[in-house]
Amino acid sequence: MRDQFGRAIDYMRVSVTDRCNLRCVYCMPAAGVPFVPHEEILSFDEIARICRIGAELGITKLKLTGGEPLVRRGLPDLLGMLKRIPGIEQVTLTTNGTLLKEQINELVSNGLNSVNISIDTLDPERYREVTRGGSVEKAWEGLDAAAGFPGLRVKVNCVPLQGAEDEEYIRLALLAKEGKADVRFIEMMPIGMGKVFSGRSKEEIYSILKQVYGEPEAYDGRLGNGPAVYVQFPGFRKHVGFISAVSHQFCSGCNRIRLTSEGYLKPCLQYGSGTDLKKLLRGGADDDMIRREIERTIFSKPASHQFDASCAAVPGEESGNEGDEDTGDGDSLEKKGMSRIGG
Ligand code: SAM
Ligand code: SF4
Repeated sequence: MRDQFGRAIDYMRVSVTDRCNLRCVYCMPAAGVPFVPHEEILSFDEIARICRIGAELGITKLKLTGGEPLVRRGLPDLLGMLKRIPGIEQVTLTTNGTLLKEQINELVSNGLNSVNISIDTLDPERYREVTRGGSVEKAWEGLDAAAGFPGLRVKVNCVPLQGAEDEEYIRLALLAKEGKADVRFIEMMPIGMGKVFSGRSKEEIYSILKQVYGEPEAYDGRLGNGPAVYVQFPGFRKHVGFISAVSHQFCSGCNRIRLTSEGYLKPCLQYGSGTDLKKLLRGGADDDMIRREIERTIFSKPASHQFDASCAAVPGEESGNEGDEDTGDGDSLEKKGMSRIGG
């Protein structure tokens, strides 16, 4: 269906957990976050019901995310359930990759269409620092296992951080040169801990890579459902992409909504507004009532985020409220971190 600005909404990001086995510095505070009690997290049947009603309204693509989606037991079963919903064409996954090797066979046999693996650096020591204790070997094993499936699209996502060595990005881009994965550089967003960490800009990374790999060509084709802008460097077998939500806003073409693991449907990442679908589901609402609420939420999607305006906001993430930072135009800003919203 279309929202109030005529944008076709056909993509839903579905967070299956707020828990994670890593603690990336820009995503979670060092002390961790208070986890949502298990009973407040949607069951697989509840997620599938919302996705089925969403599919009736034109959602065709689902992305499973978190927290770390692979820490949720039985995730491949959920993937299979979602793939069987009439109208759902693609189910994809975003993961840190550390548990992927063990689960990739079952995920692929249950219909996984593509996987994004977040690896901010291939340097073992730096990876340990950024993830507060993670093992890049585990993430690499996951990437390697995924890259072994010829029909599976594999992308590596990196959020470049201030203070990192240029060499780290040159090494990551090599994955695209060698044909292992498309590699995307994602601009830091002022969400959760992202408000207190500075990232490196698209322009910086682009110029580092250009010096080493030569002048790239723009790539016009589509490589997924998102807003990445891709280029192809000479001799590369795969692509390098840039996702720059803050500096190169792409809201006018936004096609997505988000379902948090607690069953809150959000029309925009940045705002706290949305609809508590879990309350409806558990209160005995029938499909028509839920459909009307999903429709209303999609229709109300804001024109754009205001990351620029909110960059100076206090870094007080995880207030526990659905959002209470007034933007001055009647809507309120999201105060939860990425792991809790579903990045
Ligand atoms: N745990 C999985 C992972 O790391 O891929 C899925 C959830 S994670 C929240 C999804 C993506 O959001 C990761 O690629 C992560 O780097 C990114 N992310 C987290 N906080 C961010 C921020 N403030 N700005 C930009 N990207 C962020
Ligand atoms: Fe976990 Fe992903 Fe957040 Fe890192 S970015 S802490 S892997 S949820």
